[in-house]
Order: sequence, then C-alpha cells, then structure tokens
Amino acid sequence: MVNKLKKIPPEFKKLLKVTSRLSRDLGYDIYLVGGIVRDLILERGVFDLDIVVQGDAIKLAEKLSKKLKVDFVRHHSFGTATVAWKGHKIDFALARTEKYSHWGALPKVKPASLAEDLLRRDFTINAMAISLSQEDYGRLVDLYGGMSDLKKGLIRVLHQNSFLEDPTRILRAIRFQQRFGFKLQTQTFLLLKQALKKKALIWVNPHRLRDELILILKEPKPCGYIRKIDQLTRFHFLSPRLKLTDSDFKLCKRISQVLQYYQQDNRLPRQPQGWLIYLAAILKGLSFKAIEKVLDDFAFKKGERMIVISIRKGLLKAKKLKLLASPKAVYCFLNPYSLEAILFFYAFYPQIRLRRNIEYFLAELIHKRTELNGHDLKALGLEPSRLYGRIFKSLIYAKITKGLKTKSEEVKEARSILRRLTREK
Ligand code: ATP
Repeated sequence: MVNKLKKIPPEFKKLLKVTSRLSRDLGYDIYLVGGIVRDLILERGVFDLDIVVQGDAIKLAEKLSKKLKVDFVRHHSFGTATVAWKGHKIDFALARTEKYSHWGALPKVKPASLAEDLLRRDFTINAMAISLSQEDYGRLVDLYGGMSDLKKGLIRVLHQNSFLEDPTRILRAIRFQQRFGFKLQTQTFLLLKQALKKKALIWVNPHRLRDELILILKEPKPCGYIRKIDQLTRFHFLSPRLKLTDSDFKLCKRISQVLQYYQQDNRLPRQPQGWLIYLAAILKGLSFKAIEKVLDDFAFKKGERMIVISIRKGLLKAKKLKLLASPKAVYCFLNPYSLEAILFFYAFYPQIRLRRNIEYFLAELIHKRTELNGHDLKALGLEPSRLYGRIFKSLIYAKITKGLKTKSEEVKEARSILRRLTREK
C-alpha cells in the first residue's frame, strides 16, 4: 500500500497525526476526503482540509481545537464543525447521504457509510478518501475510479441524475475541466448538455450559482472558463439578454493582463477584487436595468453592486480621460471611482494618453492624503461641519497643483482656503 500522505507538508503531517490519535481515543474512523485528496495526488498545494468522521464530528473538532488551543465553530444543524488553524480551515463532517426532494432543491441529509458519502459527491476525481485511522493510516479509498480518471484527465459524474439533482455541478464541471485542462468524459458531457436543455440552471437557488460563478471568476486566469460557460450556457442563467461577443473575450484577456500587472504592484492602497472586474465585463452589454436585476436576483453584496454599476455608468464618460491634461483634472475624474472601475477603464480603452493618465493616477495621485486631520482644523478655530469635506478636497487639489509637502504648508493653505470660503459666504 502506498501511503498517500507521504508528500503532505510537514506541518500538516503533524496536525493529521494528532487528529488521528484523538479519533482513535474516541473510537471513530476518520478520512480526508474530496478535493484535498485530488490535490494531494496531483501534488498541488494544500490549503484547507475536509475530514469525514464516522462518529461525532463536532466532538472530535472540539477535542482538536482544545489540543491545538485554537478556535472552533460548530454548525449544529449540519452536524459539522470547523477548526481554524494557522490561516487554514479544517472542516469536520459526519459521513452522510443526501436525498433531494426535487431536483435543484437543497438535499436532506442522513448519516451514512463512507461509501455512500463518497457517492453523493460531484465527480469521481472529488470522490476519493484517504484513511486517517491508525490501523490503515494513509490508505487511499478509491471506490468509483477517481484515480484512473485523474490519470486520464477526465471529469466524470457518479450517476445519471447528477447534474439534474444539483445543477451547480454544471459550473463546477467547467471549473475543474478548465483548471486542470481535463476533458468531460463523453457520457458526462451528454448528461451536462441534457441538463442544460432542460434549463436545469434556472431551477437552482441563484445564490448557489452566484457562489460557483464567483469561484470561477476568482481562478487565476478565468478567460477560458468564461468562454466555456458562454459556449455551453450563453450565460442565460444570469440573464436571457446576455450575448457575449469576440470583443468581450478580448476584453477579458486584457483584464487578465492588467490584473497580472497590478496585482503584483504593492504600491496600490489595496488588492483589487479581480473577479468583480470580470463580472462587470460579462454584464457590460446589458442595460442598467438588466444589470441591476441580475445583481438583485443573485443577491450580490451592496459594495459589489456599486462597483459593477459604477463601471457600467462610467464607461462612456471614461473616454474623455484621454483629453485630460492636468493632474488635478485626472484626480477629479478618477478619484470617485473604485480601483476595480479604474482598472476596467484601463483594460477597456487602449489609447496611450488615456492609459498614461490612469497609470499616473495609480502611481501618484491615488496616494495623496492630507497631513492635516479634523483635530487640526478644529485647532484652527473651525467647528466640525460639512465645510471640513470641502477643505480637505481643496487641500488635496492644492497638494497636486502646488506640490505642498509639509504639515505647516498645509496649515497655511487651509487658512487661505478658510478665508476664501468665508468671503464666498
Ligand atoms: P477547490 O479546489 O476549488 O476548493 P474542492 O473540490 O475542494 O475545490 P469544495 O467546493 O471545497 O471543492 O468542496 C469540497 C468537496 O465537497 C468536493 O471535492 C466534492 O467532493 C464535494 N462537493 C462540493 N460541492 C459539491 C456539489 N455541488 N455536489 C457534490 N459534491 C460536492
């Protein structure tokens, strides 16, 4: 028997040994399951762990969290628990089956054997386990041909109704197929097409589709995934009005390049949320109303919605960036926009002058902050009011146009702004 845990990083090795001993003391069999097993075999990095317990998963997680002196969260309704350890998540779950009252519904869960637990999973490559029990530690449990499919590079469902029961698996199939450069096994591909023909994606809870879509858009290079989803679904699950064209795919490629550059630029105030830029690119051809409907139907968060809408609204206006010649004008135009919107404009418009203005904004202007704060303004005799906002804005402009550097220069400028504002009253 080959020990599949040989290649696991040393710190995980120790953690698994400790967990294994605790489960023996409790008399439980436990297994590492799902994507982590696939990734160990493919020798990809290890991040989060999924452990199936034939016993009380919550009790085991609690014991482990005490032993490691780390936090642990129980999810009573599912009989699962999560231990947070050194930035990783270790999920513990009872071995279970899932029964669907109707296709696309959330399943009813019942305790079951390991074999049944593996059978409820999406694809054979995600349906393997590695024993963590003391007597056969490291043994691979491969009941459904996962290893052979992994070697052949095939995505295969475990049963005929898989995509109908849970249509989110359609997006998952595309994700794994693209990520690993695998093929959909012939019958699996037919089943996927049949499910699409039955409009299966429409009968799932949109929140679950949204989560799968976000996972796809967060993959390192999602352009191929987007093209594949378009080929298979036309993105009609988002909106029947969507129609992506070649220029949209080219835009996705340019977004990838822009992100690759700027995600490594540690001078930016924060990391851009690349996935939102791709989402805006996909939705770009829709009217405002249709975009708002998608964002509502799929319950995107308020901040996410604002970014996508501002990209759509700013897109035409951003054209004029190529005409702006003064730093102040560039600042005034771009400052109200999110980092994501600015990167979108950069990817969308290839004109050199426009791009130079954005580069300059991201390298210099975005960092402009006043040295003065509210307390300083109060010390100048000004009670807090809406005027503060105007003064800070004028101070930033003065920093850009007059090159103010020190706090005392700013104090002087603030006084003169104040005098001006009082005269205006
Ligand atoms: P990733 O590498 O992107 O994290 P993963 O395979 O670990 O992918 P998760 O979404 O974390 O995927 O799920 C963990 C495991 O749970 C999967 O490997 C699979 O066995 C099972 N699983 C997840 N979602 C489904 C689903 N919709 N239907 C059936 N099984 C699923």
